[in-house]
Amino acid sequence: MDCLELLELISDYLDGVMEEDMLVDLESHIHACRKCQIMVETTRRTISISKNCFYTTSIPKAVHTRLHYTLRMKIKK
Ligand SMILES: [Zn+2]
Repeated sequence: MDCLELLELISDYLDGVMEEDMLVDLESHIHACRKCQIMVETTRRTISISKNCFYTTSIPKAVHTRLHYTLRMKIKK
């Protein structure tokens, strides 16, 4: 496996939906290749950051109500 092949398979790898023999191939490449180690690490981090953002966008109802109230007050002034 080379870096380009790995790049194409990285989302399957991070989703954990790879076939066993592909997985072995891929992991041995990552082990030997610093560039791909960094790429996998960066991609993994990006995914977890975007997951965190997704959670913080669901605002609790009380906060939502207060926010609307505050905004309405501001508009009135
Ligand atoms: Zn590589």
